[in-house]
Amino acid sequence: MTSNQINALDAGQRLSAVRQRLDRACQAAGRNSDNVRLLAVSKRHPAQAIRDLHALGHNAFGESYVNEGVDKVEQLSDLDLEWHLVGPMQSNKTRAAAEHFDWVHSLDRIRIARRLNNQRPEDMPPLNVLIQVNVDNEPQKSGCAPDEIDELAEFVEACPRLALRGLMAIPAQKDSEDAQRRSFRRLYELFVKLGEGHPKVDTLSAGMSDDLEAAVAEGSTMVRIGTALFGAREET
Ligand SMILES: *Cc1c(COP(=O)(O)O)cnc(C)c1O
Repeated sequence: MTSNQINALDAGQRLSAVRQRLDRACQAAGRNSDNVRLLAVSKRHPAQAIRDLHALGHNAFGESYVNEGVDKVEQLSDLDLEWHLVGPMQSNKTRAAAEHFDWVHSLDRIRIARRLNNQRPEDMPPLNVLIQVNVDNEPQKSGCAPDEIDELAEFVEACPRLALRGLMAIPAQKDSEDAQRRSFRRLYELFVKLGEGHPKVDTLSAGMSDDLEAAVAEGSTMVRIGTALFGAREET
């Protein structure tokens, strides 16, 4: 679907269309669809769009920008929602992230892990973290290099206010399904390897509106879907 076609649907129609794509992708991969969580990425969409999706029974939302996310967490504090930070974080934003989110998907350096651990409030459960990996080794892309995962994982495990849950990546857009799947497969191999040393690791955050099928085929356990659920984003 083009984003114009998506924009013409209502929230319920978009949610069913995405669930149907997920179910089909799981079926094609011989996987149980209960094993792939849907995260609704609501960045640059208003709080009302989150209310609409929540009214349809959805409760896990992802934001990319700390300030925008914190605003929404506060505006929507009457709802029981699970909040994920999926975008990169500057070190001056770690406190706001530690105080407002349930998950961070974009951890890519020790300095940020140390700050999140120190700043996570005592009355909240440990912050769930995913290590973001730059799986295609793209210059200027966030994420640690694949060979830095182990050291960062060791550090996170030693942080009592953080819970290491797995990996996240945003592979480069490829021109064939095969090439797309190869990136996700490399990521899955890193995920399996991480899990061998860290038994609580259970989450592989991979797949967005354009490539969720490839990600599910290669073992994603959480897809992050924006456009297909909310329509086109406003330009910044
Ligand atoms: C925006 C964003 C998404 C959602 O992207 P869509 O292509 O709109 O589904 C997922 N993950 C991250 C990290 C994002 O920044």
